[in-house]
Amino acid sequence: MNHAASVSDRLLFEKSRPGRGTIVAPPVEDSRPLTDLIPAEFLADAPPDLPELAELDVVRHYTELSSRNMAIDANFYPLGSCTMKYNPRRNERLAGLPGLLDLHPYQDESTIQGMLRLLDEVQGFLGEIAGLPAVSLHPAAGAQGELTALMVAAAYFRDRGETKRRRKVLVPDSAHGTNPASAHLAGFETVTVKSDHRGLVDLADFHAKLDDHAAVFMITNPNTVGLFDPQIVEIAQALHDRGALLYLDGANMNAILGQVRPGDMGVDLMHYNPHKTFSGPHGGGGPGAGPIAVRDFLAPYLPVPRVGRDEQGGYRLETIADHPKSIGRVRGFFGNAGVLVRAYCYIRSYGPEGLKNVSRDAVVNANYVLALVKDTYPVPHGERCMHEFVASARGLAREKGIRAFDIAKRLLDYGYHAPTVYFPLIVPEALMIEPTETESRETLEAFAEVLKSIAHEDPELVKHAPLTTAINRPDEVTAAKQPILRWRRPAVEGGASSANGRSALVPTAGREPALVGG
Ligand SMILES: *Cc1c(COP(=O)(O)O)cnc(C)c1O
Repeated sequence: MNHAASVSDRLLFEKSRPGRGTIVAPPVEDSRPLTDLIPAEFLADAPPDLPELAELDVVRHYTELSSRNMAIDANFYPLGSCTMKYNPRRNERLAGLPGLLDLHPYQDESTIQGMLRLLDEVQGFLGEIAGLPAVSLHPAAGAQGELTALMVAAAYFRDRGETKRRRKVLVPDSAHGTNPASAHLAGFETVTVKSDHRGLVDLADFHAKLDDHAAVFMITNPNTVGLFDPQIVEIAQALHDRGALLYLDGANMNAILGQVRPGDMGVDLMHYNPHKTFSGPHGGGGPGAGPIAVRDFLAPYLPVPRVGRDEQGGYRLETIADHPKSIGRVRGFFGNAGVLVRAYCYIRSYGPEGLKNVSRDAVVNANYVLALVKDTYPVPHGERCMHEFVASARGLAREKGIRAFDIAKRLLDYGYHAPTVYFPLIVPEALMIEPTETESRETLEAFAEVLKSIAHEDPELVKHAPLTTAINRPDEVTAAKQPILRWRRPAVEGGASSANGRSALVPTAGREPALVGG
């Protein structure tokens, strides 16, 4: 990751020289005027002001840019919860096969039987792993899976005439922020349930808040501090005694795959994140999928379309006509169906025994790293974990003024992706570390060494890290809220004009922000 010396921050526009180029495209043979091909109102007044460069300069420009990325192919990614797990190239290639890629859901069903069969089998696998019989592949991501499942729960209670009464969704304080957000969007009130000193659901607080208004309790198990909550059976029982439902946030399924089935623990509905658990590559926010699995009595409310069979044994997309109680669509069709294809490939390649090894190895690896670093970075919720653990940099913050944020930044200098920081909220100065099952012992040990060594570095240096990346400490809030996505020519010609007679392009940063979507 040592790019500082080699990085060129010049834009293609600034590298441009009039007339420069390598490949000249042959002239278009069509002699019709352009307006015959493109309606006049869509034609620009002048040709676009494109940069002119030699082909290799363009290739090198983009290759250099791409090498600035942190990538699972180049770097260890101990990012808790949303970790890039395992993205085998084989799955990429298979998901890109034309017969799977070049499809449209409005094609005649007879022409997409293979894809429908694959999706049907994915539904079956996910149901089997969940121990819950009915599956919808419809939602777009984990968060939308939560929302969809809560809409299914709401439809179920509406059918029972309990809408007025069942207005609360209980959410632990260690939950991912999408849980209360989904509950709110689905029309429920959110009630926070505390964690106890062990990092598990505080049973006393849970029972105190579980009244006849409770509709659903959302649990993440293992939870976001990386602990399996063995109270889940008791929790499920208490909910069911009151006619309420238990929801599992399945983001951490990679810790329990094949070891235990959520349905057997009393879970009534859950979502999967195939992009976390089943090899869908994700970064920069997508693409994802958020299939949900539910108990049989909730099946009628699942969204449509669903994949089903016709009388002849063929596959078809079932609609609202087949499922009159369905909540309908929460999006178009199956969205990025390629994510589900990768999940299919992943599950099929591992098989039942292989999936058990995945979860076992994920847990072993996380415990190994925990053991290596805990003396430097205390882990408030115990000496053991599942697939991830949450260490605290509070001691270092007090003694040396180095915060979790600084440590995360410093790791970049050593070529490691930063862990998740400041989440979950119940651990001060949280560093959430998830090594995943696919990393070697040597990688884990090297990472632990670096992490520990940062604690002994000059605090001033750590507070100014990263020192080797192209950008140091951007203002992340402004970058997120007011992204500058466009470069403009300077308003004033003159001093900024370049030798080739074109005015140089300058960033609008700080002067005249060109806001897109803001
Ligand atoms: C990632 C995550 C979510 C949200 O899932 P997306 O697929 O990112 O929408 C919900 N809960 C937990 C615990 C997560 O880690």
